Parts: sequence; structure tokens; C-alpha cells
Amino acid sequence: MSTVNLPLLPLGRGKDLSAERGVECLGELPAASDPGLVARARAAKAALGDRVFVLGHHYQRDEVIEFADVTGDSFKLARDAADRPDAEFIVFCGVHFMAESADILTGAGQRVVLPDLAAGCSMADMARLAQVEDAWDALADAGIQDAVVPVTYMNSSADIKAFCGRNGGVVCTSSNADVALEWAFEQKPDAKVLFLPDQHLGRNTAVLQMGIPLEECVVWDPRRPSGGLSPEQLRDARMILWRGHCSVHGRFTVDVVDELRARHPGINVLVHPECTHEVVLAADLVGSTEFIIKTIEAAEPGSAWAIGTELNLVQRLANAHPDKTIVFLDRNVCYCSTMNRIDLPHLVWAMESLVAGDVVNVIEVDPRTEAEAKVALQRMLDLPGRSQRD
Ligand code: SF4
Repeated sequence: MSTVNLPLLPLGRGKDLSAERGVECLGELPAASDPGLVARARAAKAALGDRVFVLGHHYQRDEVIEFADVTGDSFKLARDAADRPDAEFIVFCGVHFMAESADILTGAGQRVVLPDLAAGCSMADMARLAQVEDAWDALADAGIQDAVVPVTYMNSSADIKAFCGRNGGVVCTSSNADVALEWAFEQKPDAKVLFLPDQHLGRNTAVLQMGIPLEECVVWDPRRPSGGLSPEQLRDARMILWRGHCSVHGRFTVDVVDELRARHPGINVLVHPECTHEVVLAADLVGSTEFIIKTIEAAEPGSAWAIGTELNLVQRLANAHPDKTIVFLDRNVCYCSTMNRIDLPHLVWAMESLVAGDVVNVIEVDPRTEAEAKVALQRMLDLPGRSQRD
């Protein structure tokens, strides 16, 4: 097994510049307390006009969402960007893998800008290409590689999507993971799936939507020799789940579900499939971010909801639906710390730099990775229909 340099949080200054990207911005980053920030953001956006298209992920802060031309989940935003071929600059208010997907799906002349380069995703970072290639070799050693179809969640780096593209695999979202798995199991006789990087989405989809027994799902731990699995365990498994998770959705617990049910009799528990299997089993409804939004929009006035997803979105839903009781499914305040790196000072700095002719923080996927990742993305676009949970 090769030694892999795992990502470090950008702490400290000047000691390891490659690990500290995003701590400093070239030029002057406005202070968060600057009372003129909103006016500066408006002025910069107006000066750029149709040259810029600002995308805002649902988990972004309100102060940033205010300047988004469209909001959505990562896949919708990448497609929205692709639908705007005339926009010279795509400012992606989200995290790194999303900006990569936008770069893959947009034209060669368009530049994708991430206002803070330190806005990564801890889940995406849990599957590094060298680790996945080691696992792939180990599957060959166990004599099962030919039967395995790799499926990666959208929340993965471009090189993991490219790995899936060149190895007969596909990308999926939380809306269509069931359709992607169905497709994968049809690709080969006795097919197995290597699901990257979120074990919870893989397990919840396989067990609850595909009816695959829990004991046929095994977890590949990239930090252990042979993933911590014997050749027999690998041969008996149908789902090989990568040991990755979302640090936000992994916080929700059955304890809090029980506590909220006791406190609000009749409350509906609505969670994202990145939550643990136990939490999903304890919930009433599970679905993607778009599914959560549509469910709340369609809910009866007076109904009560406990929502297990990122707090910025839950807070916005609560503000938009004062006729419904909406509570967060965690006792503590918990935002996605990397999503929250994109704040108004960084957005203003990025847009003012563009106005000045300085194209900062460009996310660019190399042509070979882009071509292979596109293969896996195209297979997803070609999947029949869409899940009911879209
Ligand atoms: S919410 Fe989870 S999956 Fe989404 S960006 Fe944050 S860490 Fe990654």
C-alpha cells in the first residue's frame, strides 16, 4: 500500500504553503465588519453584468446566497453553469469539487472561480486517487476486480470521477443513487459495486432502496491493509463501501430523533441519505437536498418537521415557512465549516478582482482528467429516468 499525504486543515502561516492555500488572498480582503460590503458586492456584480454568473449552493450563508443568480445542489448548479455559455466567469459559491464539476461541464473559454480556495469538502478528501488505485489493485489480487463497477458520488474530486470513467463506472447524486446502482449491477454478471466516497449514501441506497441485505455490504478502510477485509469477505460482498462520510450529516443521532419525537408529538423527521443508517431508519422521510426543500414547500401549514441536513438550509427553510414548525436535528449549532469559508468578504474580493481584470482562484481540471470524468458524468446523464426522490 502506498503512503498517501492526507490533506491538512490550513492552520498556521508560512510553514507549508501548499497546505495553507486560501488562508491569504492576493490583494486586499475586505474586513467582515466593513459596512460597505453589500454595496461593494452589488457594484461589482453590476459592473460585471452578463460576464459573470454566480452560483450558490443550498448550504451557503444567507449573505452569499443574496448575490447568487441561481441556487441548487451541486449537480443542478453545474448544469446551470453549462446552460450559460455566454458567461465569461462562473463564480461558484460552494466547495472545490463542485467548482471542478462546473469546469468539466462548461465551455473551454469559461473560467470557474472559487472565492476561497480553502473551501474543500472533508468527505471528498476521504477518497484520494492513490488510495483508490491501491484498493483497485487489491480487488484484482482478490480475483474480483473484473466483477466490480465503481460508482462515485458527485461529492468526490475530479480525479476520482475520472477513475470511474476509465474503469467502466458512473457518477451519481443523492437523487439518483438508486438508478445508478441498478445500472451498475446490470453491467456485468454477478456485479459488485465499489461505492465512493460516502459509505452512508451507498449503504442507505443499497439496503433501503435496492433491498440488498446489510450483511452483503462491507466497508473498505483505506487506512488498513487490504481495506481491513479478507478475500472471502470481498468475494461474498455485493457492495464495497468506501469508508468516507460527511462530517455534518454524520453528527445526527437517533438519541436526538427520540428526544424531538417526545418533545413534539407528531413531528416528521426528514433527513438526507448522507446520515447514518440508524438515523435514516429512525426517520420518516429520506431524500436529497432538493427533495427536502420540495417536501417542506408541499407540507401542510401547522405541520412540524425535524430536519437533518446543513444548518444554513434548515434555517432558511424555517424563515421561509413561518406557518410550519421547523427544527434542526442536532442539539448544537453545526454548519459545514468548509462551505462557510465562502463569505461576503471573499465574494466581494473575487468579484472586484474580476472587475479589475485579475482572474483569481481559477479552478481548472486538466484535459485528460476532464475527458475521463466526463465519460462517467455522461453515463449518469444517460441513466434511464430519475429517482422518485429527485
Ligand atoms: S456538507 Fe458534508 S459533503 Fe457537503 S461540503 Fe460539507 S463536508 Fe462535504
